[in-house]
Amino acid sequence: MIRRSLFAGFAVAVLLGGVLLAYQPVTGSLPEGASGEASGFHWRHVAERLRIISAESHFIGTRAHREVYRYILEEAAKNPGVQVELQSVEASYRAWEPFAIATVNNVVARLPGTQGGRSVLVVAHYDSAPTSPGAADDGTAVAAMLEVLRLMASGTRPRNDLVFLFADAEEVGSMGASAFLEALTPAERERIATVLNFDARGNRGPVVMFETSQDNGWLIEQFATASPSPVGHSLASAIYGLLKNGTDFSVFRDAGMSGLNFAYFDGLEVYHTRGESAASVDPRSIQHQGEQMLALVRQLANEDLSHVVSPPVIYFDVLGLFVVRYGLWLGQVLALGCALGLGLLLFRGVRSGQLRLGRCGVALAVALGGVVLPALLAWLLWGAVRWLEPRYMLLPGETSVSTERYFIGLLVLAAAVIAWGAHAVRRLLTPAELAVGALVPWTMLAVLSVFLLPGTSYFFQWPQLCGLGLLSLLLREERQPSAPSSLALGLAPLLFVPSILLVVPLTRLLYAAFGMTGIALVIALWSLGWTLFVPFLRFILGGPLVWCARLGVVAGGALFVAAFVMRVFDSSQPSMNSLVYLLDIDQKKAFWVSGDPFLDEWTGPSLGAGARQEQLEHYFPYVDWKVFVAETSVREYPAPGLEVLADTRQGARRQVAIRLLPRLDASMLELRVSPAKLLGVEVAGKHYGPAELRSDWGRLIFQFWTPATTGVDMKLLLEEDLQVELRLSEVRYGSESTEPLFPQRRPADKSPYPFGWFSDSVRVTQAVRL
Ligand SMILES: [Zn+2]
Repeated sequence: MIRRSLFAGFAVAVLLGGVLLAYQPVTGSLPEGASGEASGFHWRHVAERLRIISAESHFIGTRAHREVYRYILEEAAKNPGVQVELQSVEASYRAWEPFAIATVNNVVARLPGTQGGRSVLVVAHYDSAPTSPGAADDGTAVAAMLEVLRLMASGTRPRNDLVFLFADAEEVGSMGASAFLEALTPAERERIATVLNFDARGNRGPVVMFETSQDNGWLIEQFATASPSPVGHSLASAIYGLLKNGTDFSVFRDAGMSGLNFAYFDGLEVYHTRGESAASVDPRSIQHQGEQMLALVRQLANEDLSHVVSPPVIYFDVLGLFVVRYGLWLGQVLALGCALGLGLLLFRGVRSGQLRLGRCGVALAVALGGVVLPALLAWLLWGAVRWLEPRYMLLPGETSVSTERYFIGLLVLAAAVIAWGAHAVRRLLTPAELAVGALVPWTMLAVLSVFLLPGTSYFFQWPQLCGLGLLSLLLREERQPSAPSSLALGLAPLLFVPSILLVVPLTRLLYAAFGMTGIALVIALWSLGWTLFVPFLRFILGGPLVWCARLGVVAGGALFVAAFVMRVFDSSQPSMNSLVYLLDIDQKKAFWVSGDPFLDEWTGPSLGAGARQEQLEHYFPYVDWKVFVAETSVREYPAPGLEVLADTRQGARRQVAIRLLPRLDASMLELRVSPAKLLGVEVAGKHYGPAELRSDWGRLIFQFWTPATTGVDMKLLLEEDLQVELRLSEVRYGSESTEPLFPQRRPADKSPYPFGWFSDSVRVTQAVRL
């Protein structure tokens, strides 16, 4: 009895200790002392640069934006032997729906190598969102690049060329990176061996290498051997590939170039908000980012870069200590092992009468219920919180600093529900049968993943193999008298470890990346992990498992309720809202507009009693929901200039040359053409034909992010008898444009909604018919 209690205690200790350890974010440690090693990276060395870069929002086209790239130019040029260039290019391309046009200003710094062969390209973007000082996104990476450039230029000259691209206009569709790539000749493009991109989406947490180019075997080897605390796995890369998100890296990846993409994710609540200040960024993330950048640049700078492409590998880090990596073939062998292993144990168990297939079917239903029920419960509970406290709905990812309390409460609740379920079926199913039920979905995932998304296969295969180990032990134990030895029983909980090391950090990473909006999915994944542990826990704990479950329900529930009771919205954890001043020149009317799902105690009085909900798609393209709108007094804003320069006919076609003129400082011009039946458009030196101008929306949008004060010229080619409406809107983003207009000051506990169609802005609009 005492022997069994000891084993039970050890199993629980391994499980809880492992989970707690694996939940800690891996960011390495801060260097000792104020200066560190002269040749190493020290976060304090970049603090001053970071403070200067992120003193205020430096959105494309603003004064602060110009100051930042001039500062980068100056800093980069201080390094001996470094060639620095300001690349000013007029760029135009179709992002997703709009055609984006801008003059981008990239800063390119080159450190020639001794061999003059292929080069390594390091990329971070220096522009910020209009609603954020951009310290994390992407200020720390820019500051780190300047430091790494300094260290590389002051040390022994490396073998390969190093190119540092401080890219512009990432926030409006990676236009700087696109312009850089387009300006390269095929030979110059070929010379770039590999690309390292650094970005961020939050203000803390480990720097995760979350994306790679296709044939990444060689690159992963470099990452694994160079990085002092590598965090990254092929699952993140596979999942990220399915999402539509993009960074500057997408531009190079889509062009078939090789490379790695890094970012830190924790702290979604400050992403693109004014809370993303230099002081708010965790020094550990700055250090982790700089160390990885320096280590990889150092390694690649002296490697032979003639063969950077080799077959893709499956890889994952273990607590940031090392990277396990192997070829796809091994993934396939492991899949086979997973399937055969379960088949064999099932066959033996059925033959010996220990397992009955019908009951294993019931166990499968129990396991699936153990995944679905906690996820459903989490979804319902979070839905209730949102209903009681709608301010959460307006936060990025519905996440604030303190929502992690809800999250942890839900993790505990989910584990407790699964343990309770295993106890509830104790008269119906043996622990071995429960284990078979849990292993069926794991085995299916272990096999299917190899074919569908090979990068994710390791995540299912290693826990499944350990689950098989636990199942064989349970089968042996039930087959008296050849029961397992004390040693076997004592060591069994160590089979939990691989699952803990894989499931827990991923659970945390997914919460960091998607916040509370993805809660059901995250809890389902976490629960899937627990279905593997619980059969052995029931075997070793017996009856007391239900006490653990009850304790879990009380603790998890209490955490969740406490999170709600203790919720705070103040200046350090603000709620968010939006207000746009809309001036329709033709109607001589002005409106306050809010795209928020409800009006709060500031937007409500600002709009006043006359607020109504309306569709304003013609003013705000892409907004297909009803927004709050209320008429207000007309301010003196000049109408954006729309001049028809020439209107000529060539047979059945008509060519109209127009000039668009900005009238406000640092604004964006948006031209909406409807219907979308143009035969051709000439803009920014590019011609777009009917195929490129296809639109499923009945209109075309052109966005000019840095319109020249002398105007932007365009030629539209249309059928002779077609009537088109051109709506030109001039938009000024940023609080400084709207704040003087607000009927009352925005309280400190309310922050402007991050960059989007409804960030604080002034929109002056007029329409003409052609
Ligand atoms: Zn960014």
